[in-house]
Order: sequence, then C-alpha cells, then structure tokens
Amino acid sequence: MAGLIKVHDAVILLRHHAPPPYSNISVRLSKCMDEYTYGECVVDVAKETIRIKINSTVPPIAQLDALMHEWAHALLSTLPDEFEKHNALWGICYARCYSVVFET
Ligand SMILES: [Zn+2]
Repeated sequence: MAGLIKVHDAVILLRHHAPPPYSNISVRLSKCMDEYTYGECVVDVAKETIRIKINSTVPPIAQLDALMHEWAHALLSTLPDEFEKHNALWGICYARCYSVVFET
C-alpha cells in the first residue's frame, strides 16, 4: 500500500490544480492550537492573502483532511457570504480538493 501523501506535497498539488482566487496563500503547521481545532483559514480581503493553519499534533490523515477542508474554504475566499459555510458549494470545493490530493 502506498504511503500517505504528506501535507507539504498536497499543498503543491492543490496550488497547481486548485488555485484559490488569491494566489498569496500560505499553509503552516502549528502545535499551538487547541486540541479540537484541526485547522483554520483566515482571509484578508484587503491584502488578498489567505493563511491556513493546520494542527500538527493530530494524526497525519487528520492533518491532510484539515488541509483539504480549509483549502475548500480558501477556494471561496472572494465570496464573503459563502466563505465560512459548510454547504453544498463548499462540499463541491472539498470534493475537488479530495480529488486533487488522492486522484492526481
Ligand atoms: Zn470549515
């Protein structure tokens, strides 16, 4: 069985195959997040930047899932009414991220 793709390699794939509206996107792993927060995505519309933070203390598969989850929010970062929701539109974005990471 092939090993799990690393978060860093998944970011490279996502940048290439699912670029968000703001190209200034950074992803970093952090061990300073509370245990129930797996990831977060912060958008600065004025600066056109997206900052994703992933909890490095959770298992690798959970880090990868958090990355795809937050990247799906990032894809909606120019739609303020949609950005924070987990609705069907977000679900399509999440599916796109999943497909890029696991099927590319
Ligand atoms: Zn979310």
